[in-house]
Amino acid sequence: MSAFASSADLEDKEQTLEILGNGVFALTAEGDPNVGAIEGEDFVVCVEAMATPVAARGWLARLREHTDKPVRYLVLSHYHAVRVLGASAFDAEVIVAHDNTRALIAERGRQDWASELGRMPRLFKDPASIPGLTWPTLAFSDRLTIQLGGDRGELVLAYCGRGHTEGDIVAWLPGQRILFAGDLVEAQAALYTGDAFHREWANGTLDSVAALGAEALVGGRGAVARGRDAVDRAIEQTRDFLGTMLDQVGTVHSAGGTLRDAFNAAHQALAPRYGRWPIFEHCMPFNVSRLWDELTGIERPVIWTAERDREVWDQLRG
Ligand SMILES: [Zn+2]
Repeated sequence: MSAFASSADLEDKEQTLEILGNGVFALTAEGDPNVGAIEGEDFVVCVEAMATPVAARGWLARLREHTDKPVRYLVLSHYHAVRVLGASAFDAEVIVAHDNTRALIAERGRQDWASELGRMPRLFKDPASIPGLTWPTLAFSDRLTIQLGGDRGELVLAYCGRGHTEGDIVAWLPGQRILFAGDLVEAQAALYTGDAFHREWANGTLDSVAALGAEALVGGRGAVARGRDAVDRAIEQTRDFLGTMLDQVGTVHSAGGTLRDAFNAAHQALAPRYGRWPIFEHCMPFNVSRLWDELTGIERPVIWTAERDREVWDQLRG
């Protein structure tokens, strides 16, 4: 049997701080979750919080080489543990997320924490430093604009529809045409769809993301897409991943096949293009399991627990 999820991925990744525009920073790490920051006139907006305060402090130390302004806003693109549990390190005045994200943290934050710790232990640097669940202090349903001050323009936080989760938001700088897309778009990493709404994500939600017309895009994981062509490619490749899953799993499902058949078909169809990308093997059993449920008419993703993770893994990869 292959090692569970990313439990055998224990080698540190190289982190790279990139400056994308005037006061716009991204930290990428060879397929580990990306984070970012936007400098306002008197404050900083941070995007994503990493898995633990200790992990986040490493990122903040890098950021502090460029700006010493206080963090007023910490923006969480969605509820997943590896993106939110480091929040306490930021000392942010305001923690912003979508309404659905706040509800999902209340509903399944504990289980998701245990699940993600088991799946991706390397990202949880000093897990004992996590003080508890992260609670957004400001939530919105459609759109929230932060004025950055001076001539720095505005930062628009927007909901584009259900996708990677029920509550993903993007952070958009219309002046510089830079987009932090969270896990709604992956540039050079496999998609995680275990909590997703595949059909909506592949259609209306990605259409809304594309319609922004970004010229640089920071996805959830992987390299920054720079330039309009690269942004379009990242979005279309995300759509292709979802479309291939929908085709393959849908065909097996409607023909009365088994979950295992669906897994094999989707894996075989995706592996030539995506098989070498970070977390592909880790994600596929959970992805196919959720899509199978979605096609069966289960509206909302079933909560992943550490135990359910192992059951699905053993069933599909055992
Ligand atoms: Zn996620």
